Amino acid sequence: MVALEDWGWDERWAAEFAAGPGYGLLPARLIEEQRGLYQVVTAAGERSARIPGKVRRGALSPAGLPAVGDWLAVQSVDGQPVLAVRHILPRRSKLSRKASGEGLWEQVIASNLDSVFVMTAFNADFNARRLERFLTVSRESGAQPVVLLNKLDTCPEPEPFLDKARAIAAGTPIVALSAKTGRGLEALAEWLKPGRTVGCIGTSGVGKSTLINHLLGTKLLRTAATRAKDERGRHTTTHRQLFLLPGGGVLLDTPGMREMQFWDVDQGLKKTFEEIDALAPSCRFKDCRHGAEPGCAVKAAVKEGRVAAARLESWLKLKSESDKRRKALEKAHYKRTGPKR
Ligand code: GDP
Ligand code: ZN
Repeated sequence: MVALEDWGWDERWAAEFAAGPGYGLLPARLIEEQRGLYQVVTAAGERSARIPGKVRRGALSPAGLPAVGDWLAVQSVDGQPVLAVRHILPRRSKLSRKASGEGLWEQVIASNLDSVFVMTAFNADFNARRLERFLTVSRESGAQPVVLLNKLDTCPEPEPFLDKARAIAAGTPIVALSAKTGRGLEALAEWLKPGRTVGCIGTSGVGKSTLINHLLGTKLLRTAATRAKDERGRHTTTHRQLFLLPGGGVLLDTPGMREMQFWDVDQGLKKTFEEIDALAPSCRFKDCRHGAEPGCAVKAAVKEGRVAAARLESWLKLKSESDKRRKALEKAHYKRTGPKR
């Protein structure tokens, strides 16, 4: 038996569940999603679940589909090992981004977070504008943001950075810590309580993985890629995105949360290089990188002196850095969660 309270179940959820069309349904929390197959935790243990195709096609937008962190009402269907998802309980908080592809669909990347650790670091990694942006995203989610200033061990004079953070955080709690040495981590106990769900966002390199590994402990990480049977009886490696912390609390770590910085960077690039962004739709190739491609409108504009060559040069440099960071991050995530099968 699983104590759903450890996973965040409480009287308010129980009331919501009872108010819904609950007959014959069980509460379950979504801990992982992979190509339409959901891994959920129920009072009876972990199970696979699916949305009936009719419901999936009827969803008005991706936000209408289950997201990691959701509390669901699931149903056991006679003779089938996979549960059917019948209902998503109203989300208390959600971190969203624009869904990939055309159109302006909202995609929920994590839900029902109680707090979001907005991570930045001392010294060169301290970035006031990013901190502002991540705080905005977290506040919008409905979860409580907490600013973490990491790499305290490298900073002989933390006060000026703390002052800057205080000016931006406007009353949001600030914790100075070192994910590497463990110094200051005890202050996080305030948010890492049994049944409370936290997630971590911040620019690449600030120390999110280091902190998460520290919180999970190596033992849990090794068993993170557990094996479970899917509906065909095949074994598949599962990629957990919701973890019970050994000291109590629930940690949400989806690739989406880690990638948030990248749309951030790309948006930033667009804003900073408006003239290049405005020309891009005129390039022959939709995904033109303004490098060696033929029919590039940006290179043509540089040739004609309408865009400064130096601007294109720095755009290319920043874009390639951003791509490199994204690749490194994907690789790091792949290593942490094991090979996809
Ligand atoms: P992420 O991209 O946010 O997940 O960052 P990582 O956890 O991968 O950390 C990036 C780099 O910073 C790594 O080299 C870490 O060893 C280092 N790092 C992380 N936390 C600390 C810290 O508290 N102190 C110091 N000195 N280095 C840290
Ligand atoms: Zn181009």
